[in-house]
Amino acid sequence: MPTTVFVVGSLNADQLLEVPAFPAAGETVLASDVLITAGGKGGNQAVAAARAGAAVVMIGALGDDAHGVLVRRALTESGVDTRWVRTADGTHTGTAVVAVEAGGENRIIVASGANARLTSQDVEAGLAGAAPGDLVLLQLETPVAVVAHAARFAKERGATVVLNAAPAPADSGCLTTDIDVLVVNQVEMRAVAELVGAGTGTGETRDVPGTVLATSRTLNCVVVCTTGADGAYVNVGDRVAHISAVQVTAVDTTAAGDTYTGYLAAALARGETDLTAALTTASAAAAVTVTRRGAMASIPYAHEIGPVAAHAGPGTDSTQLT
Ligand code: ATP
Repeated sequence: MPTTVFVVGSLNADQLLEVPAFPAAGETVLASDVLITAGGKGGNQAVAAARAGAAVVMIGALGDDAHGVLVRRALTESGVDTRWVRTADGTHTGTAVVAVEAGGENRIIVASGANARLTSQDVEAGLAGAAPGDLVLLQLETPVAVVAHAARFAKERGATVVLNAAPAPADSGCLTTDIDVLVVNQVEMRAVAELVGAGTGTGETRDVPGTVLATSRTLNCVVVCTTGADGAYVNVGDRVAHISAVQVTAVDTTAAGDTYTGYLAAALARGETDLTAALTTASAAAAVTVTRRGAMASIPYAHEIGPVAAHAGPGTDSTQLT
């Protein structure tokens, strides 16, 4: 039976402004260009899973404005089902203003807008059809209480729960035993480990494999920690495996993590039981993303990652930890 990836998360209009230099306080600078595109971690991951070939249902909220129309259209064009994306009256669509300096450095301001209006009722309505075999994918750009409720509700229906704990959580409310797979980058990994008491508690920092293992034991779940161009680490029982990144010339790493998470979700939803194989595909897809500019626009379709996938493979340096 075909399974579904349900994504509960944020939807933004990204406004990209290219400036010669960032303005100082009180200063005005002219941007040479402005680009408005669909984004948000929820939206990006939904599109990544859809382009990977999964049936994807998005649960989120947009403002009653032109940006809401733009974001909904972008999701639909990638094959994402937007029936459970609610248009919230009296608020604007989530907005990320990204100023990019000539050298490539960026500064970002985010206004949550309708994302902050996502409710547990929205989640229950959207996830009513979730069943064993389906996968529910969550991030932390919507209210934490709603994320925790979504994880519980999904679990009660027998679905697999994947949490991308990004941005780094400030409290442990969403870090429950309802999570089957936790995906984090190194910064988020450290925050999670401290919050769940899997840090060293001595002020010393564990290495990434050690932190992955300690956190997976505490939360009783699979932990995937991505480490940029170095690849990723995952616990497989008491072993931590390293999945190499594919070597490419990176142009813009925006949405690498979202591509990785969306492709992983799609692989798990289609019944891939070999985790390292699923992560190898995710890493090939993310490698394509970093060779392209932009966020959602840079996420590849499955047929585009073939040549890169040929160079992907699990690292040989898996670590035995007990
Ligand atoms: P972002 O916030 O930029 O979307 P992130 O911090 O969530 O990313 P990263 O750990 O930077 O996540 O990257 C996720 C995955 O993308 C990595 O595990 C790797 O497979 C791939 N990746 C990232 N950067 C590169 C790179 N320079 N070259 C090849 N692959 C990369």
